[in-house]
Amino acid sequence: MTKVSIGLRGWRFDEDEVFDGEGGYRPRSEMDDDTRERLERLPMLLDQPCDVCYLGDGDADAEPAAVYGEPGAEVLVCDDHEATFYYWFLEAGGDEYEGSPDLQDAFHEWVAAGNSEPGWYEGPQHVETDPESLPDPGPDTSQVEVGEPVPVNVDLPEDEQAEINLIEAAEFEEDVADDLDLDADYPTGDE
Ligand SMILES: [Zn+2]
Repeated sequence: MTKVSIGLRGWRFDEDEVFDGEGGYRPRSEMDDDTRERLERLPMLLDQPCDVCYLGDGDADAEPAAVYGEPGAEVLVCDDHEATFYYWFLEAGGDEYEGSPDLQDAFHEWVAAGNSEPGWYEGPQHVETDPESLPDPGPDTSQVEVGEPVPVNVDLPEDEQAEINLIEAAEFEEDVADDLDLDADYPTGDE
């Protein structure tokens, strides 16, 4: 089972559940409720700023690189602040909120109180995978450099296309923690 991130790191989707293997998305009706809910949140989330940048300097233009938490109560973080979330979640008790919509408020309160990760904390080490090495990469990735957004061709009814076209990039990551942590929506200390 291959897990993929779409647009943002953090949330991971079962590739076989989301993509039809021919460059398109499967019909929403074939996805489970949680998957469909997360997928439908993504276009909105891509338009919102990094929570930590926004809470810190009111910077509403800082693009998020990763999303954690539950649909409707997400934490969005940019590349720099992903380490802040990892530190809170793994070292400062944030994992108590795993799977709970309270995670968003709890993290925001921690940040708003002036907390951050210590200078020595390196945060997540992401392992990028050569898309060519995936057994069934779905969208055509042959012309795309490793680490570059992967174009996704979508074949959906008109009214659904407008929404899903906003999800214009898919990023493939090796699920290095697959056999260690079955709930890969959250950070693990092993990444
Ligand atoms: Zn930020």
